Amino acid sequence: MSHNGFFGTFGGKYVAEVLRKPLDDLEIAFDKAMQDPSFLEELRTLQRDFIGRPTPLYFAENATKILGGAQIYIKMEGLAHTGAHKINNALGQALLAKKMGKTRIIAETGAGQHGLATAAACAKLGLPCEVFMGEVDVRRQQPNVAAMEMYGAKVISVKSGSKTLKDAINEAMRDWAAHFDNTHYLIGSALGPAPFPDMVRFFQSVIGKEVQEQSQERHLDIAALCACVGGGSNAIGFFAPFIDKDAPRLIGAEAGGIGPGQNENAVRMSGSAAKDGIVHGYKSRFLLDDDGQVAETRSISAGLDYPGIGPQLADLGKNGRIEFRAITDNQALEALQFFAKNEGILFAMESAHAGAVALQIAKEIPKDKAIIINMSGRGDKDIFITSPVFRPFEWEQFLQSELDRLKQGTDIHYAESLPTNLKKELENK
Ligand SMILES: *Cc1c(COP(=O)(O)O)cnc(C)c1O
Repeated sequence: MSHNGFFGTFGGKYVAEVLRKPLDDLEIAFDKAMQDPSFLEELRTLQRDFIGRPTPLYFAENATKILGGAQIYIKMEGLAHTGAHKINNALGQALLAKKMGKTRIIAETGAGQHGLATAAACAKLGLPCEVFMGEVDVRRQQPNVAAMEMYGAKVISVKSGSKTLKDAINEAMRDWAAHFDNTHYLIGSALGPAPFPDMVRFFQSVIGKEVQEQSQERHLDIAALCACVGGGSNAIGFFAPFIDKDAPRLIGAEAGGIGPGQNENAVRMSGSAAKDGIVHGYKSRFLLDDDGQVAETRSISAGLDYPGIGPQLADLGKNGRIEFRAITDNQALEALQFFAKNEGILFAMESAHAGAVALQIAKEIPKDKAIIINMSGRGDKDIFITSPVFRPFEWEQFLQSELDRLKQGTDIHYAESLPTNLKKELENK
């Protein structure tokens, strides 16, 4: 847990006066829920039946043989409902908001994965949901926008600033400040002002707790845990039960992008480019430009390009408990192919960064020890990113033929014959 919202020098609650009360109320409600057996029981049931927990801890036997060192295990978070770990947090916070009597959920999203998880959780719990998303991201991430709308969420296109994730967060904070009496702001990673980092870690720590049980059952001697780090929620949840121990090694993989230069990556911990700063209500390590503004970042994985990092991870990196490594786009693509071809498992691009760390260290570690990779998500969602890389010509032809099909209007009769209530809903958008 944090001390007064701080992890060492990082964290805190740097917000406008009006947000102090909703943050305090949230902290009290969260503390109460943690002591409430009926809340925890309801959460456990939903985790089991809605998310599909526990997710398997899978022995990657082929990979282990090929690499010739430590036993490789994969925590299969990608099998969770909606395809990634994000649903653990979305569902937990939505349930808490409902207990608090909130009647509206707002969220920010970048690539759309957090928006998708939040929309699904809200549909399940019967809460109206609005997702703030930069206009640029809305255009780039139409498959996820479509899915959010399927789940009944309203996607609000943010036109300020660079029209991406950081602007979506600002806009969500502004909305929350105006509507906190009935609205909960469901932040998507282990960051933001206190109590969000503690709360998100708790909801994601179901990953680490399961890993602890599953590895004890099999008597694994764990040498290292590998996770990718965007904002840091899958990593901190996976690491949580092990943080206060001396072992295993905890390794965070950051987006090394296309290289070490400015705006070429999202390396906040393993390089020297990031600085201490206060952004989005908390103090941490941030990539800033020469004017002290949040810098543009780059990564092949849409989930790892946030310019900051959760405050607890920043602190654990600073004091050496967590090691950070920068994994380039190409190294992640290599890891993606390795696990797909040898294990029949398709990692999300983000998670492939964690897989790449395992490929680097497996041989240095003896065969009687284990490395566990958190596969934070599955790779189906990345077909628009991986196909242009691995098979650009065929992909272009496919997109062209889809366009042609659309122009011929073969599917229009479905829209025309939709029941009138559905048509009305579409027109009201
Ligand atoms: C969003 C996302 C991440 C990065 O977010 P964290 O908060 O760092 O976990 C990693 N993997 C997947 C599959 C994601 O969707």
